[in-house]
Formats: sequence, C-alpha cells, structure tokens
Amino acid sequence: MSISRKELIRYLDQRLSPERFRDYAPNGLQVEGAEQISRVVTGVTASQALLDEAVAWGADTVLVHHGYFWKGENPCITGMKQRRLKTLLQHDINLIGYHLPLDAHPEIGNNAMLAALLDIEVTDGLEAGNPLSIGVVGEFDEALSLNDLGTRIAKALGREPVLIKGGDHLIKTIGLCTGGAQDYIDKAIELGLDAYLSGEISERTVHSARENGVHYIAAGHHATERYGAKALGEELAREYGLEVRFVDIDNPV
Ligand SMILES: [Zn+2]
Repeated sequence: MSISRKELIRYLDQRLSPERFRDYAPNGLQVEGAEQISRVVTGVTASQALLDEAVAWGADTVLVHHGYFWKGENPCITGMKQRRLKTLLQHDINLIGYHLPLDAHPEIGNNAMLAALLDIEVTDGLEAGNPLSIGVVGEFDEALSLNDLGTRIAKALGREPVLIKGGDHLIKTIGLCTGGAQDYIDKAIELGLDAYLSGEISERTVHSARENGVHYIAAGHHATERYGAKALGEELAREYGLEVRFVDIDNPV
C-alpha cells in the first residue's frame, strides 16, 4: 500500500496539531523526497546511522522525534549536516519530524507512552492549568521504593537509570517529562510530588532533589523518547497499510 506525501502530512498534522505549539524546530515535512510513500523508518533522531538503515531498507520516508533545523543552529549546510542532507536528497527520502507535539500527545506522545510502560496512571499535566503541558503527573497503584522503581525502569527501558535519593519516603506520586527536561523538577517540587523523572540530569539537579526532598530519576533522553515515534509508525501501518519499521540506534544518553 502507498499514499501520497501530502495525504500523510495531512494525517500527521491532524493527529498531532503542531500549530498549537511554539517549538524549537519546524514540525512536519523537513526535507522533501518521494511523492508516494510506502516504506517508513521511524526513529528517535535523524542521525546518519538511522539514515543509512533507511537507505539499506529502501525506505522512502524517515519519521523522527528529533529532526533538523533547530533554532540557533548554524544554518550552513556543511559537515555532518551536509552529509545527512546529501543522503536524504540522493535517495529521494522524505524527512518528517515532530518534536513537542510528539512529546505532549495524550495517547501516542512520549510522555503518555512512557507512563503506560511504567504503569503510571496519568492524572494531570505537570504544568498545572496549561492544556499544552508537555510533562505529566501520575500515580502508582501502590507506593514503591526508589530502588524498586529503578528496577522497573531498567527492565522496561533496557537501561539502568541514574537514581538520586531525595529522602526516605516511598513513591506514590510522580512527575515525568521525557528528554532533557531535568529543570522541570521545579514543577514537581511546587506540586509536592514524591518523585520526578526525566531523561537527562545536570549537576544542579542532584542538589535540587536532595534539598527539596524529591527523588529524581534520569532514565535517558533517548530511552525515554523512543515510544512516541514508534507508536505513531505502528498507527500508520494500521491506518494505511504502509510498511513501517522502528529502528533503534542505541544511545547511552
Ligand atoms: Zn528530545
């Protein structure tokens, strides 16, 4: 089965409503390739390794969470950027990227998917009162220790998280925001949550967790952001009968 590029973008824009977000990169079609789409590689980041896999598999489209053309980046097409774009253009591959809309989506977003994977029931947005809150607040069925949560995360994500103890309390309520959202720990503190989980960690995050009595978990930027693009790809396969493959290019961060 195949569909036109136009139709695919229309579907994705409708599903993810990118116009509602003020983002750091363009959402939607970033690099134009083939007009008909039948074979899609999904992944976290449009790295050269992901593109090489797409070429090897004969994909006509790459759909990712981290695309190109970030605010503030050098606009010149040189070095790494030239090589990536050359690969796409030479092989007539579309590059489609959705950033914040794919973090925030309540069904197939990175945060919703990660919460489901960790058995967290989402109860609210992390930014109280903001309908576009990227992060979420949730609850566990039963309170658990930081170490038990660490074990659950390691099993689910295939990666050992960094655990920062914020006290002796068990964890019933948790805030989460995938990726590089460690500074949103302030929101978790404001809300009086037991723990906060994001992808990355900074030196200051450790002190903030310890001094404010909130456990902090850094579960990996890449590891926490695999599930949105994957779910979106599976949806395209069901909806349009496209051939879709999620390619995980391992990244320890
Ligand atoms: Zn990210």
